[in-house]
Amino acid sequence: MRRQRIIIEGIVQGVGFRPFIYQLAARFGLAGSVCNDTRGVTVEVEGEAGVLARFVAAIRSEKPPLSVIQSVDTQTIPVQGTTGFKILQSAQDKTRRAQISPDTFVCDDCLQELFDPIDRRFRYPFINCTNCGPRYTIVTGIPYDRPLTTMADFPLCDDCQSEYIDPESRRFHAQPNACPACGPQLQLIDADGSPVASDDPLSEAIRRLKDGQILAIKGLGGYHLAVDASSQDAVQELRRRKQRDEKPFALMAKDLVTVQRLASVGEDEARLLQGVERPIVLLQKRIDHSLAESIAPDNRYFGVMLPCTPLHYLLLQNDFEALVMTSANLSDEPIAFEDGDACQRLATVADAFLSHNRRIHTRTDDSIARVMADRPLLLRRSRGFVPRSIALPVDGQSILAVGAELKNTICLTRGDRAFLSQHVGDLKNLEVYDSFKQTIKHLQSILEVLPELVAHDLHPDYDSTRYALEESGLLTVAVQHHHAHLASCLAEHGVEEPAIGVIFDGIGYGADGKLWGGEFLVGDLSSYERVGHFRYQPMPGGDLATRQPWRMALSYLQSSYGEIPAGIKAFDGIAENELRLVAQATLKGINAPLTSSCGRLFDAVASLLGLRQQVSFEGQAAMQLEMIADPTQSRPYPYLLSCDDDQIVFDPFPLIDSIIRDHSAGLPAAQISGRFHRSLAMMIEEVCEEIRQRTGLSLVVLSGGVFQNCLLTEMALERLEKSGFKVLTHSLVPPNDGGLALGQAVITSH
Ligand code: ZN
Ligand code: ZN
Ligand code: FE
Repeated sequence: MRRQRIIIEGIVQGVGFRPFIYQLAARFGLAGSVCNDTRGVTVEVEGEAGVLARFVAAIRSEKPPLSVIQSVDTQTIPVQGTTGFKILQSAQDKTRRAQISPDTFVCDDCLQELFDPIDRRFRYPFINCTNCGPRYTIVTGIPYDRPLTTMADFPLCDDCQSEYIDPESRRFHAQPNACPACGPQLQLIDADGSPVASDDPLSEAIRRLKDGQILAIKGLGGYHLAVDASSQDAVQELRRRKQRDEKPFALMAKDLVTVQRLASVGEDEARLLQGVERPIVLLQKRIDHSLAESIAPDNRYFGVMLPCTPLHYLLLQNDFEALVMTSANLSDEPIAFEDGDACQRLATVADAFLSHNRRIHTRTDDSIARVMADRPLLLRRSRGFVPRSIALPVDGQSILAVGAELKNTICLTRGDRAFLSQHVGDLKNLEVYDSFKQTIKHLQSILEVLPELVAHDLHPDYDSTRYALEESGLLTVAVQHHHAHLASCLAEHGVEEPAIGVIFDGIGYGADGKLWGGEFLVGDLSSYERVGHFRYQPMPGGDLATRQPWRMALSYLQSSYGEIPAGIKAFDGIAENELRLVAQATLKGINAPLTSSCGRLFDAVASLLGLRQQVSFEGQAAMQLEMIADPTQSRPYPYLLSCDDDQIVFDPFPLIDSIIRDHSAGLPAAQISGRFHRSLAMMIEEVCEEIRQRTGLSLVVLSGGVFQNCLLTEMALERLEKSGFKVLTHSLVPPNDGGLALGQAVITSH
């Protein structure tokens, strides 16, 4: 006989862990107890040594679906001769390390009940259990217990209570447990805020959607705007009401078979779509799809997700090929999540609101993913993934990293784990900035950490920088933008050794005060050296150039030829006067800061090919350039690599010249774009080879927003790997500025 204490850490609370242990102990005939504590779950079991070993192995192999086990620590303690197995009350302890689970989709057991006419939760939109349902978005504090969630508003009825206290029940200690008798209720509200009298708000909402109306629908982390995706009129009306917003709309379809009718779905994509996180997955449109063209104009991809909540399942049951489900906001505002605020802000957009009385405590946008080089790549890590932690190579003091200005996320570290927040957004918007501060406060409170240091970007004008310096009250550490991208990718892979960092993005503040963005670094988690970069190029009009790609085209032409050649079609829509003024100012260096950005080169090429002269969001032109590219093009364009003060400098002038020639000769843009991508991939390999000669390093990191581009990434990967480089790319952490905070935190920790 032996007695063991087993301490399990990770996401083990609120995910059905104790009943799982209880049932497992019963199966193995072991005596003892299980309880939640502030570190996780502690089990004590007594039995034969062999049986105990099999029991411990089974904890790992059979763990509940939502749990994440980080460590299982076993100690042998004196035998007590107890009989039976008990679930004990939660213990209190000083160090809290328990973690809250992300929100998850409805599990199969709950789905079955949802559509079972004799079940007491038949068609109940808030059905859940310990294996599924809302978590992070409803948590108001810790420990994770019903009174500290927004479910505190709903006292359990007798039936639900008996499930809640029954260790054999799937709903034992399921904090959001609810039923039609005691739980949240749906409500349909008109655009003017008055409730619609109806005993079946759901059917009424479906009827209105069928009618072509725009509905704001309350989801897990905020409201969506929904229309019938096969109705061209409804989709266009939604686009008109959302104002100057050209972003593609996300779709929700009933099941995988339906998605396959809309887009091509590979094995990895199917896995992503069906994952418990339910992200939006970018999928190549099928030519014969039956949906409205204006869902994703000029785009070869649809962003599609499968239903995430029981309400979504009920909405999509039999009625729609797909619904548009786009974040409920106007242009740059954050997604609406509070009921009163939603009604007010969306009054001019939505015809009605399908809402309910379960409050959302934390606004959380949908996550966005795609498959790249046979691996998932998160472009936005938010609902379903947050607040899952990322393992750090070392244990250190607590750090708050405040991230970038656009696509902001923040990161908190506790011990050897980093917690990256949900997508916060673009901090220039005041409401987003408020939500940024709330996110910092909330994450600190639920993780129970008080950071000792705050890491921020070098950029003096980022609002996140200003917060760190003026409002945080902590010791500050400035981290260079592209070094943070490099460290973010290294940290994701748990790599501490130095690497060659190929860091391409839009813009980041450089150590020399110039605007970097096409960088070759050599560095690790503590320091870096810049060894190469794109040739500095004036950015006419500063920030304006990121919104008007023709300005970068002008800049490159001027530098290449000393003047603007005649007959450039890209400038057709631009007033002669404006063109001349901008050209003159740029020559004199007035309001034309220097940049080594790769993103801006993409803008210039997109402009020269006539794809787009104005963009409504950063990276739009570059995305289009990728979308149209012919991937089979194998001949690169010429370019120059030179050495300036030991720095390798990439000069794209010959490339620009060839593009102008090919374009005027009438060669298809698809072909030119394909060759442009091929040239960059080849240049990356050539520069890495030169750096390998100098340093002996053959580990390469590809990071920065440009590496959301699958074509470029896959071309570069292939070339680098053929030449014997080991290449690290992102997967769970976005390569764009959404992953920056992780890098800032890790560098500061080191
Ligand atoms: Zn369930
Ligand atoms: Zn109930
Ligand atoms: Fe960046």
